[in-house]
Amino acid sequence: MQKHTKIFFDFWNDEFTLAQTYQCFSCSSWEGTDIHHIEPKQMGGSKCKDHITNLTCLCRKCHDLCHKSKDFNKSIQAKTLRLIADKLEEKLELGYEHR
Ligand SMILES: [Zn+2]
Ligand SMILES: [Zn+2]
Repeated sequence: MQKHTKIFFDFWNDEFTLAQTYQCFSCSSWEGTDIHHIEPKQMGGSKCKDHITNLTCLCRKCHDLCHKSKDFNKSIQAKTLRLIADKLEEKLELGYEHR
């Protein structure tokens, strides 16, 4: 498993993952999904791009669109950050329950 895949998997757990398969953040498809770096990985700077806020999961169709359209990529970033914020709050609430 690649490092960014593990980061993604650890954070989302089974919310968007099913065994080794992921669900598209954009259209909820399970087909041909892959982890996309919202800000592209660059030579030498790959480490800092492997952060959960820079990782999203997209099906082949949405992934293609992201690489073709900056606006679409931005909308995916906004959606991903919102989902992460929700997830963090959820984790916080779960934490409170155990106290
Ligand atoms: Zn999709
Ligand atoms: Zn990509």
